[in-house]
Amino acid sequence: MNRLRTYPQAQRRQKNFLLAAISLFATMTTPMLSAEPRNPALAPELRVVGQGWNTDSNTVKRVLDSTTRAFWENLPHLQIGGPIIVHPRGGPITLLRRGPDGEIFIHLDTGDTYWSQYVFQMSHELCHVATLANNDSHADNWFEESVCEVASLYTLRKLSAVWHRNPPYPHWRDYAPRLAEYAHDRMLIRQIADDVTLADWVDDHRMQLQQNSPLRRDLFIAVANRLLPLFEQHPYHWASIQYLPTISDDDQTLERYFQIWYSNSSAQHRAFIRELVSLFGVTLEVY
Ligand SMILES: [Zn+2]
Repeated sequence: MNRLRTYPQAQRRQKNFLLAAISLFATMTTPMLSAEPRNPALAPELRVVGQGWNTDSNTVKRVLDSTTRAFWENLPHLQIGGPIIVHPRGGPITLLRRGPDGEIFIHLDTGDTYWSQYVFQMSHELCHVATLANNDSHADNWFEESVCEVASLYTLRKLSAVWHRNPPYPHWRDYAPRLAEYAHDRMLIRQIADDVTLADWVDDHRMQLQQNSPLRRDLFIAVANRLLPLFEQHPYHWASIQYLPTISDDDQTLERYFQIWYSNSSAQHRAFIRELVSLFGVTLEVY
């Protein structure tokens, strides 16, 4: 259903990949150190509702607020026009339908005290919220899915550093490394070989990517692993994702998709977008 976005549970396959990918450990970077979010008051208002959290909902809200501040500090000027209503089940998914007062509805698929999974799912869905009312029916929606996978990895690694310095509860400091470990395990699910360019890899997997199957999240992870360093080095440019195109033409080329993104964006993000799309072998018409 095109009005919904979804993706499967994150955790199940990670351990199977862990041993196979162990040799890749050396290539993984460590989370960057980070200061506390600069503009926490500007993060969207969250309302944690519904049954099934299986733990204290005030604690859940604290974790999700911390997640939202960490991601949204890079989007200080993005107004979404209403609070975000978060349910524990029925997703992970962000409904494009809004409530009567502009409410945005996020359904997670988590509960209990799986805090890393909360952070992982919430940051992915916040990324979709930040792209605003993007149409997800076009052929290259895999790109947005990959970027939102980056959002999860980015936020997990960032919060790992933030919680080390200032956890939601003092006794949670010991939990901080587990956030980075969760991201690390996720990144190991699929990697593109070092001697293969992202452009060549996407050419080889274009049809599978365009199927946008929830069963092939590994493809998005592969792309995300290549994009993560760019966003970690330049988190200011997370704001560029609000300009992703809202097109639904099946004949749309990736080059055209990127060109519209560039054209829609404000001037301060254009060099970043040029650099990012160059990884896909795309040269933009610059003006
Ligand atoms: Zn998604």
